[in-house]
Amino acid sequence: MERLEAILASRKQDPDACCYLLVTLSIDNGMALRSAFGFSVIDAIIDGYARQLHEMPNHQPEVFRIHGGQLAALFPGTKPADVDRLMQACLQTLPENANFQSLSVYVNRHLGGVLIDNHESDPQAILQHAEIAIARANDKMSDAFVYTQEVSESIASQLALMADVTDGLKRGEFTMHYQPKVALADGKVYGVEALIRWQHPVRGWVSPDEFIPNAEHSTLILKISEFVLREVIQQVSKWRASGIDLQVAINVSGHDILQPGFAQMLFELLKEFDVPGERIELEITEGTLIEDIDEVVAELLKLTEAKITVSIDDFGTGYSSLQYLYKLPISLLKIDQVFVRYLPEDKGASYIVSAAIVLAQKMGIKSLAEGIETQANLDYLQQLGCDYGQGYLYSKPLSADNFIAWYQSYQPICPKASQLAKESTANDTSMGRPL
Ligand code: C2E
Ligand code: CA
Ligand code: CA
Repeated sequence: MERLEAILASRKQDPDACCYLLVTLSIDNGMALRSAFGFSVIDAIIDGYARQLHEMPNHQPEVFRIHGGQLAALFPGTKPADVDRLMQACLQTLPENANFQSLSVYVNRHLGGVLIDNHESDPQAILQHAEIAIARANDKMSDAFVYTQEVSESIASQLALMADVTDGLKRGEFTMHYQPKVALADGKVYGVEALIRWQHPVRGWVSPDEFIPNAEHSTLILKISEFVLREVIQQVSKWRASGIDLQVAINVSGHDILQPGFAQMLFELLKEFDVPGERIELEITEGTLIEDIDEVVAELLKLTEAKITVSIDDFGTGYSSLQYLYKLPISLLKIDQVFVRYLPEDKGASYIVSAAIVLAQKMGIKSLAEGIETQANLDYLQQLGCDYGQGYLYSKPLSADNFIAWYQSYQPICPKASQLAKESTANDTSMGRPL
């Protein structure tokens, strides 16, 4: 900190003084390293990295140890155009495999870069920018990230949005909409997917894509899910009382599932509103399941014992956890709409969709195609052997009241092939009638 203050003071006196690049290094798997090799391991790794930085050819950085397992290096005379090259050089100098007591150990390290130029005069702010850069590298699963003003602004606006979500939940700005899920062969509605909607007092309608992914990085997702579960289960109970008994799918994340007490909360809500477990399906995306797979499986088994069903959402996108799929107690694969949209013309998409359908069949579970918008999408999916579908062809997500109005006037939409078969059977019968 003192060194940063001195640099900034000298820049104040001489605005033409050279720029510095501040590079900070943080170790992400510190806990694993300490539990495997003891407390001295981090010191040894950081000392080794500091030595390697001092020995960097063509550079004379000043190297500092900062709080926790972090290291900082100041490179004088860095021009903006040199920043990326210098960050790459640092990555090569600080490899992921470090030596400890003649062993080579894996260090999950990230580098954050901040260019100290004429715009910055506060050392505290520079260190904060370095933290932001490291956090971004971590989020993006990249080895290094260089701070920019835009990143800071987007983080600030996301944090403001997350604060608004918390207030919005208290102020009752969130509601649930419902989109029908249909059996492809006969067009009958067998269930709905519940999708959250946010009417913000200033921003208007805010798409869940704007706040769910960020909420999933914090405990905020648990608050959202708590609202969603209560709201939806209460709705199912009302529909059942009026004679409409559909299965309702709720989107949850892997973090929800692993939250202690999640299953208990769900069971209590089912009891409170007298809804049987088999009326509830949980949709979980592949990506949120990869970590702690064994614990996720154990939690999901608790839920499936209560007859709650589980489906994999957005199948085919993200990192495919095919190696885990067979471990999970799932009953449905939901094929992502990015593939469905281009059927039947796009060959690549149709290979992926047909492979997913066959995979589901081999696993003895059902398949559902999301985002069916056209009769041509539907006809092709039916030919491929897909069981269920969902999309604007049938209906957009609707408020609970609008959904009921739609449901009561819905005329099943069937694939052309089965329509033709029906018509020809009807014709055959009439032709075969005795005169
Ligand atoms: P998702 O679970 O994949 O939901 C399907 C999204 O596709 C929904 O967007 C839906 O409105 C949209 N969609 C459905 N049919 C069609 C179609 O034919 N064409 C097109 N272009 N789009 C279609 P939405 O409601 O904006 O939700 C976006 C995502 O936000 C959801 O993707 C889900 O991941 C998340 N989400 C929504 N509600 C909740 C919730 O209550 N909890 C959680 N954890 N996530 C939610
Ligand atoms: Ca979903
Ligand atoms: Ca989906």
